Amino acid sequence: MMANLLVVISGPAGVGKGTIVKEIIRGDSSRSLSVSCTTRSPREGEEEGVSYFFTTKEKFSETAEAGGFLEYSEHFGNFYGTPRAFVEERLKTGDVILEIDVNGALQIKAAYPDALLIMIVPPSIDVLKERILGRKNDAGFNLEDRLSRVDFELSQRDKYDATVINDDLTVAVNEVLSIIEDKKKEMEHD
Ligand code: 5GP
Repeated sequence: MMANLLVVISGPAGVGKGTIVKEIIRGDSSRSLSVSCTTRSPREGEEEGVSYFFTTKEKFSETAEAGGFLEYSEHFGNFYGTPRAFVEERLKTGDVILEIDVNGALQIKAAYPDALLIMIVPPSIDVLKERILGRKNDAGFNLEDRLSRVDFELSQRDKYDATVINDDLTVAVNEVLSIIEDKKKEMEHD
């Protein structure tokens, strides 16, 4: 039997990782995307239980203390965590995809050495930064911080199992899918 895989997708803001993840899930009903808990407020169009489980800082820290998260980290003053029960349950029936930041990804790798870490990178860092500067909807975030966060995330790419450039969406999606398939074959032979 093929082993089920924990796949972590990270990448800087605006790189299009959400779109890639959706495409990966779409093609395979046994694959699920983990829905994280966050203390940040919902953005327009985000739905409870679909985009995130929105929660308070108090509830988040209670869950964290009770060991309810596989990993969690702080991002621009808000907390984000992967619900342990959901992931452990879904892993019994298929692959689970986590779209999380670099700090969370490294916690996952430490706890689950078989997890596959994929970083999505932009074809041009300058173009990505210009796009972030042009996004006016994230009021309250310091743009300098956002840009240095891009550099930090990209600086961690060597800690990932693979890097995929998101230039053409279809090419990037196929590349991620083939990295997943290769890893599953490798695990089967171990
Ligand atoms: P956003 O607020 O833009 O939705 O997400 C901010 C960052 O938090 C993104 O890099 C996203 O991938 C990351 N993130 C989302 N959920 C989780 C999680 O459960 N754990 C960690 N460590 N990062 C997360």
